[in-house]
Amino acid sequence: MNIAVVGTGYVGLVTGTCLAETGNQVICVDIDENKVNRMRKGEVPIYEPHLDVYFERNINHNRLSFTTDLVEAVDKSDIIFLALPTPPGEDGSADLSYILEVADQLGKIMNGYKIIIDKSTVPVGTADLVKDTIAKNYHGDFAVVSNPEFLREGFAVEDFMKPDRVVIGTSDVRAKQVLEELYKPYTRQGNPIIFMDERSAEMTKYAANSFLALKISYMNEIALLCEKVGADVDMVRLGIGSDDRIGKRFLFPGIGYGGSCFPKDVQALAYTAEQNNFDFKILKSVMDVNTRQKEIFVEKILLYFKGDVKGKKLGVWGISFKPDTDDIREAPSIQIMKKLSAMGAEIIAYDPEGTENAKKDSELKVQFAENAYDALNEVDALLICTEWSEFRNPDFKEMKAKMKDAVIFDGRNIFSPEHMKKQSFDYISIGRENIFNK
Ligand code: NAD
Repeated sequence: MNIAVVGTGYVGLVTGTCLAETGNQVICVDIDENKVNRMRKGEVPIYEPHLDVYFERNINHNRLSFTTDLVEAVDKSDIIFLALPTPPGEDGSADLSYILEVADQLGKIMNGYKIIIDKSTVPVGTADLVKDTIAKNYHGDFAVVSNPEFLREGFAVEDFMKPDRVVIGTSDVRAKQVLEELYKPYTRQGNPIIFMDERSAEMTKYAANSFLALKISYMNEIALLCEKVGADVDMVRLGIGSDDRIGKRFLFPGIGYGGSCFPKDVQALAYTAEQNNFDFKILKSVMDVNTRQKEIFVEKILLYFKGDVKGKKLGVWGISFKPDTDDIREAPSIQIMKKLSAMGAEIIAYDPEGTENAKKDSELKVQFAENAYDALNEVDALLICTEWSEFRNPDFKEMKAKMKDAVIFDGRNIFSPEHMKKQSFDYISIGRENIFNK
């Protein structure tokens, strides 16, 4: 099939590349000229495991190309995916300006039946809005489909190639048949393609992300209570996770959820509720708990340093909002580092992939280290903000030799308190016993 993908970010580039991988002819469009030039030279502009192999193969086989020209892409394609940003507006609502602007242009460009597929996360009713916007200028037949994306950064290629499910919201019979064919290669293991109406598909995405955020906030509250009653949240996690009805995933407490999706999607669903005079009580708590979780981590650090971090040197391991991505949008680490540096702490941070993006944040007053151990020179404490695998089994002797004080604040519970007692570190984590050796 001939496909255009508009927007080549984490979702668009993975979508385009993985659609080319099954033999489709894909042209990716982006307004970012620099990005398009890099991709034309064979450079993958984001860090996403395994994407490079597919990317190179499909370029070499002439199935994947890049342009800044929407007209060229639309002319060559029967199916047009929209993978555009939907950032939060001031009031928490999803900003649809990117989507509607492209829809407006599509209406002016289209000259025959095309299927427009919305992959961005958008509020209920957006498919109708896109349809109306196109129809202002284009009076022929076309379909607008809602096909929310559930891929996880860090596992995006795997998730696209073998999705748990594909959700397709459409009332157009022709579009339904085309999409069934398009997604067949990805659902061969029997994972379902679930067809529904456009509004339900749009709602499904928000309901899924908000439920996952809720699970995280719930465990963060359980962790806080564990600290108060002397229980160990790791044990509780294992105890409840073995129940199939609860499941083992998304039960890890920490310093809150981040990223470009959960915070904005929970906010947008809350906004939708508000607009419909619905008091979505749980959702408000999910957001409050998430904000508080970052504050509590900073409070723990302040308490340890008797209320004053001025002049303290703090090493930070992990900047990206989660491991295996260079994405630092809404990363808890960034907010925590900004707070501590505003209080006078000197910060040196290391991340395996996120440093380049962090350097672009002019409000982030920190130094960056080349490797994990270089972030430890003469520090008063280490803060662990992202659970990258390379942090899990470090050389504690070398760490101690470099650090001024053997103190770790672990926002991701990557070590066991018992082990840290043996290693003679002061060790403060989430929902578990604090270890004080001094
Ligand atoms: P992103 O910011 O990484 O990428 C968006 C891309 O769109 C950028 O390259 C930008 O230059 C381009 N763009 C902006 N305006 C354009 C225009 N007029 N024409 C062409 N290109 C344009 O965004 P993302 O993370 O890929 O997210 C896209 C959508 O998918 C959002 O709605 C998001 O909520 C949703 N989503 C994201 C994820 C994720 O893990 N990142 C997962 C599922 C769904």
